[in-house]
Amino acid sequence: MIRLLGTIFAGLLGLAFGSFLNVCLSRWPAGESIVHPRSHCRSCGRTLAWWENVPLVSWLLLRGRCRSCRAWIGSRYPLVELAVGALWATAAWQVLAGTTSPVPSDLLWAGAAYGLSQMILLWLLVALSVLDFEHLWLPNKLTIPGTLIGFAATLVYAAVNSKRVFAFYGAFGLRSRFIWHLVGQRLLAILAAAGLVLLIRWIYWLIRRREGIGLGDAKLMAMLAAWLGLPGALLAFGLGVVLGAIAALVLLVLPSTRKSTEGWAHIKLPLGTFLCVGGIVSSLWGERMIDAYLRWAGL
Ligand SMILES: [Zn+2]
Repeated sequence: MIRLLGTIFAGLLGLAFGSFLNVCLSRWPAGESIVHPRSHCRSCGRTLAWWENVPLVSWLLLRGRCRSCRAWIGSRYPLVELAVGALWATAAWQVLAGTTSPVPSDLLWAGAAYGLSQMILLWLLVALSVLDFEHLWLPNKLTIPGTLIGFAATLVYAAVNSKRVFAFYGAFGLRSRFIWHLVGQRLLAILAAAGLVLLIRWIYWLIRRREGIGLGDAKLMAMLAAWLGLPGALLAFGLGVVLGAIAALVLLVLPSTRKSTEGWAHIKLPLGTFLCVGGIVSSLWGERMIDAYLRWAGL
């Protein structure tokens, strides 16, 4: 019962935060403030009534068009709201697995820390995937704070959770050693993940003498490593590259891109978008996928 109610609550909260994200996604690329002015139609400038701002519902009622100028609002609005809502609901469903009432307080704090960090990461990944898709832009103002928050969130979760785990052993020295070990491990993971992208970028430049993969992608990988650790970040990278390759093949087959004079080789694919999708899959199901792989490989 707690699990179901918590999931519904997280989903509704996700719809609201998805709606806020839409405001950011429209205004950041234009260099506008996200707090002022109030929500308005981007075509005629009319300030929206409160009932035109209800996530999902308003878009459906208005059939995706502005009430006064009939301008097409775009399908990104309901999609982003739905994505954040669905992802937050999934994260809550996982975190709340096996909860009984009343929840022991130490477990409650560990679960809350983990759940909150999952929600922040998923929100950031949806934001970055759309920005890279629409503008080929992975802004530093998201990836750099994202890396710092991910690093901090990992440590907070480790501190809270290790208090629970090491309470059995009653050993404080063991606990602080565990946390320091994790600090070093995560710092190395961040360097390795960003370094991997920089290495590929450098090799590509040696061969083709032009930029193939952006610095934004390196910072995105650093961010993924801060949250997910190196195995999780590498899983996200692998999934992203496979998705990108599939997208490239689909574009190759489509007649419209084949005919274009620019040529297929010059189409810029939003690699960051694919890395974000890989990151979302890795954050929600990564541990299970890595475990399954290790068992399959007999390790
Ligand atoms: Zn309008």
